[in-house]
Amino acid sequence: MAVPYQVNQAGELTIGGVTATSLAQKYQTPLYVYDVNSIRNQMRAFKTVFINRHIDYAVSYASKAFATVAMYEVAAQEDIHLDVVSGGEIQTALAANFPMANVSFNGNNKSAEELGMAIDNGLGTIILDNFYEINLLHDLLAERNQKQNVLLRITPGVEAHTHDYISTGQTDSKFGFDVNSGQAQQALAQTLADPYLNVLGVSAHIGSQIFDVTGFQMAATKLVDLVHEWGFEPQVINTGGGFGIRYTKEDQPLPATEFVEAIIDTITEKTTAYGMTMPTIWIEPGRAIVGPAGYNLYTIGSRKDVPGIRSYLSVDGGMGDNIRPALYEAKYEAVLANNPSAPSEQVVRVAGKYCESGDVLVWEQALPQTKPGDVLAVLATGAYGYSMASNYNRNPRPAVVFVEDGKDQLVVERETYTDMLRLDKHYQ
Ligand SMILES: *Cc1c(COP(=O)(O)O)cnc(C)c1O
Repeated sequence: MAVPYQVNQAGELTIGGVTATSLAQKYQTPLYVYDVNSIRNQMRAFKTVFINRHIDYAVSYASKAFATVAMYEVAAQEDIHLDVVSGGEIQTALAANFPMANVSFNGNNKSAEELGMAIDNGLGTIILDNFYEINLLHDLLAERNQKQNVLLRITPGVEAHTHDYISTGQTDSKFGFDVNSGQAQQALAQTLADPYLNVLGVSAHIGSQIFDVTGFQMAATKLVDLVHEWGFEPQVINTGGGFGIRYTKEDQPLPATEFVEAIIDTITEKTTAYGMTMPTIWIEPGRAIVGPAGYNLYTIGSRKDVPGIRSYLSVDGGMGDNIRPALYEAKYEAVLANNPSAPSEQVVRVAGKYCESGDVLVWEQALPQTKPGDVLAVLATGAYGYSMASNYNRNPRPAVVFVEDGKDQLVVERETYTDMLRLDKHYQ
């Protein structure tokens, strides 16, 4: 199945009821555009199964996928929790007036400053990752005579079928407490004995862009087995994120609801079998919430035809606004904004404007004839595009526009050259 998109009566690409070409004209390109209804629908899809089955839950948006004030505001409106991984994301949550009790903090090397920021701002849950952090957090809490809810991140040794670079669930991982060596159990003993820590439960994250439920069932099984073996009844079991999305017609993602059903079923069966109280289930979808909602708009510029090899079609953005193809060989699909369904007449490689041969946005794309000035839309770019954007080659980062019910609104301004130079100092 092709990556879905909307068209108007004239057959032009629309996003949230507004034509992509008019957005490109109004805000210039390159441009990040989000269909806010799509974001809301995905958030609701993850929640509905829990609600229908009367299971206590938290859907915590893994905000590293796309972290801006406006995005956090949409999450708050939908009663979605937030997972952050840095002081910058905490600051963004504060700027968005996000309810800090609904924020959790992941990461393998949180600094004392970041942890201090978390506990001073009432951040709900810190997901402890290593012994260094347990001790650091203990000291910060002792200084303040304050207590903090925590989860323990466990490396469950479950391998999800995914690209090596973005897989974090194996034993050979920088994240979490290792099970086989006994570190996880030791961490539990230490944190349970700590008067400043309130251990809510355990957490795992097995990878990204996962297309079947098996990995989640295995991870959930492992987590319940472990806590049972350790004689610990968790209030919370967090099975993490990684729910796959459709980037191209080759991808066959499952609906959000199927992942949630499988996770609930596994945890219900296992805890019932052990006679344990049913815990609150947390999940941390990132990509699946924002990925399908995002469109990157570009203007087509130069072209190079290498006879007998391929044609390169260059656009005014590239790896500075979407590094995933260069970094992970990630695949996307692009359409011509003014006529996305036109029959294809050429196959091109869509290249960016950055000085790297690997600066590619789409490896192989069939398109109708194109000319300089046409607007090209890359689909399903909402996750890890803006959040991984850089100023490589001193290109300013694009603006972000939210569109909902036919209304468009600028939510992140386009960076200017002045913005980029603001931190530079002369060397005398
Ligand atoms: C990245 C990450 C997620 C989200 O992953 P997606 O593939 O975007 O769903 C969730 N939890 C943790 C701990 C992560 O590091």
